Amino acid sequence: MSYVKGLKCKECGRNYPKEALYVCEYCFGPLEVDYDYEKIRKCLTREIIASRPKNLWRYRELLPIDGEPTDGLNSGFTPLIRAKRLEKALGVKELYIKDDSVNHPTLSFKDRVVAIALSKAKEFGFDTVACASTGNLANSVAAQAAIANLKSYIFIPADLERGKVIGTLIYKPVLVAVEGNYDQVNRLCSEIATKHKWAFVNINIRPYYAEGSKTYGYEIAEQLGWKAPKHIISPCAGGSLITKIWKSLKEFHKLGLIEKPNTKIYAAQAIGCCPIVTAVKENSEIIKPVKPATIAKSLAIGNPADGVYAVGTVKESGGWAEDVSDGEIVEAIKLLATTEGIFTETAGGVTLGVTKKLIEQGKIPKDESIVVCITGNGLKTQEAVAEEIGKPIKIKPNIALFEENVKGG
Ligand SMILES: [Zn+2]
Repeated sequence: MSYVKGLKCKECGRNYPKEALYVCEYCFGPLEVDYDYEKIRKCLTREIIASRPKNLWRYRELLPIDGEPTDGLNSGFTPLIRAKRLEKALGVKELYIKDDSVNHPTLSFKDRVVAIALSKAKEFGFDTVACASTGNLANSVAAQAAIANLKSYIFIPADLERGKVIGTLIYKPVLVAVEGNYDQVNRLCSEIATKHKWAFVNINIRPYYAEGSKTYGYEIAEQLGWKAPKHIISPCAGGSLITKIWKSLKEFHKLGLIEKPNTKIYAAQAIGCCPIVTAVKENSEIIKPVKPATIAKSLAIGNPADGVYAVGTVKESGGWAEDVSDGEIVEAIKLLATTEGIFTETAGGVTLGVTKKLIEQGKIPKDESIVVCITGNGLKTQEAVAEEIGKPIKIKPNIALFEENVKGG
């Protein structure tokens, strides 16, 4: 049973069939999946969702596949952690970490979008999948293509973190390291996508792929007891996740699953790549592309595809945007580790660093519910903190030396 009517242009509203399309041929606007909400409303309840397995397919009526889900059966439904010690450190009353650093199988929120993309690619009959990636998507496409027995071509900037390169190669895809930044990699992939009949998850399958991010937002609302929080801070790379979190809350309300969300959404970026934050602060509708220079490589997209919609989400929800330096990113990574035991990748350092700043600025009140989005695992970006965390105390295996150098010293 499908609840998808087709695709619809986000700009001019023209309708398109369910195919591997992503751009409106009239206005070049992005296409988005169009659902039959009336039909979904009649069959989807809190009880039905709650009775299903703890993976992202528990919201399947709101996801763009027609048949039975075949991929990502262990992805999603990651912990929403009440962060008591972090609350104390930041001086706030109610703060949660939505922790996709433990998502299955590759420890980032990209496992959600790839599960949807590969299910859809198979429905379309593709035997090869591909992507342009800043790292996490590379990991996830390679892993899930291996599970699904699909061929994969993966394109990354050549200067990516070692953890992300190894975490891709282990699954034996064709991995192409392009000498250039993500925006150049993406441009190359757009050209390749028009030539080869592959499912590029973030190009020709993009409308379906992007819908997977909604599950991150559904889970936040469900895990809070069918309630939207007052504040959500989301990292921004291409700008898709933040818009889909907002969409997920609005959809849940439309279906009567939660009250009207009174949630402010905040965009978080690194100072070295902050085109979305700049547009919010300058109250501009136009995203000015930048050349990225930050340790937060997974967010280093200088020309964000959904930047305009990310800015729109911030405005519509009444939120704000902020950026942090590389030093502040590292401090925030350490703060999350030492308070909550969570080792986040650099993107999470950006999100938490921005959260701290917004609380200090009084933009986020101290007595309202806050959700911080942690989207990837720190084991993948160890270079970023390796020099900032001290060294182990080295001794010979001898009790006297232990007493002298460790206990006594
Ligand atoms: Zn259009």
